Amino acid sequence: EAKKSGRRTYAIYTSAMGEALQERRALEDDLRSAIETGAFELHLQPVVDGETGEPMVYEALLRWDHPTRGKVSPARFVPLAEESSLMVGLGDWVLHKTVEAAAYLPPGMRIAMNLSPLQLRDCGFVERVQAAMDRFDIKPDQLELEITETVIMSDDQRTLEALNALRDMGLRLALDDFGTGHASLSYLQRFRFDKIKIDQSFVQRMVDDPISAAVVRAVTSLGIDLGAAVVAEGVETNEQRDALKREGCNLFQGYLFGHPQRWEAMLGVPH
Ligand code: C2E
Ligand code: MG
Ligand code: MG
Ligand code: MG
Repeated sequence: EAKKSGRRTYAIYTSAMGEALQERRALEDDLRSAIETGAFELHLQPVVDGETGEPMVYEALLRWDHPTRGKVSPARFVPLAEESSLMVGLGDWVLHKTVEAAAYLPPGMRIAMNLSPLQLRDCGFVERVQAAMDRFDIKPDQLELEITETVIMSDDQRTLEALNALRDMGLRLALDDFGTGHASLSYLQRFRFDKIKIDQSFVQRMVDDPISAAVVRAVTSLGIDLGAAVVAEGVETNEQRDALKREGCNLFQGYLFGHPQRWEAMLGVPH
């Protein structure tokens, strides 16, 4: 009996895996054609100065409105693109849209673009960034690049060279989702980051959890010592904002200050 039911469980298990795989392939095909037709939108979300309430920089966030599935989250399709060699093409779409949007920025403002580790490893990426900037006459201080801990932990030579080249061109570097990866603090010495973004999980827990509050405090003072700005991600409530201020953090990104919106709407450009 046990054997029999064990086998049946196995059969159900494999058929569920088969469906998941099929589903994945279908989404991958749709993603491929969406990249060809450019069926994406670039949204911008402000990062605001807690003292003045003014936006300091906008983060560019990719949106895909699927013809039948509706909105698909980048948390789902970016990893899929990374696993199926579509990420570099998708990243180039983001690059061109970001640079196009940057041409409409008010003076002194910047756009921050998220980078996949695969883009930095791709030969010719740095040249494509330069070419895109030249085409829209964008100054390097109008762009910021967000990378995660996995990128700085990489020993890939091309990645490290690309990051140094981009920084030499004058682009700013931000360390995204800080605290969620496995990088030790010593990795912060590898690159001079202009900005550290504290992951939203700490921000959301800090009100009730003293350990998370201590992490926020430590990263904020580390930022001061390293000369890096520290941004809190995912700020949703006044309570969180006040707790962040108490720990010395004064740059905020989150629904409390503004949801991501189409770039044209955010920058007042007719669409
Ligand atoms: P991320 O770079 O950490 O982006 C911040 C995420 O937090 C965004 O999710 C944003 O919509 C969300 N967020 C902002 N404020 C709040 C808040 O108050 N509460 C909550 N719960 N969430 C908030 P989104 O747009 O779904 O993007 C998810 C992730 O997908 C990004 O995380 C980034 O890792 C990746 N991603 C998005 N766009 C791109 C892109 O153009 N290129 C690459 N390589 N990755 C991207
Ligand atoms: Mg980001
Ligand atoms: Mg982040
Ligand atoms: Mg995140």
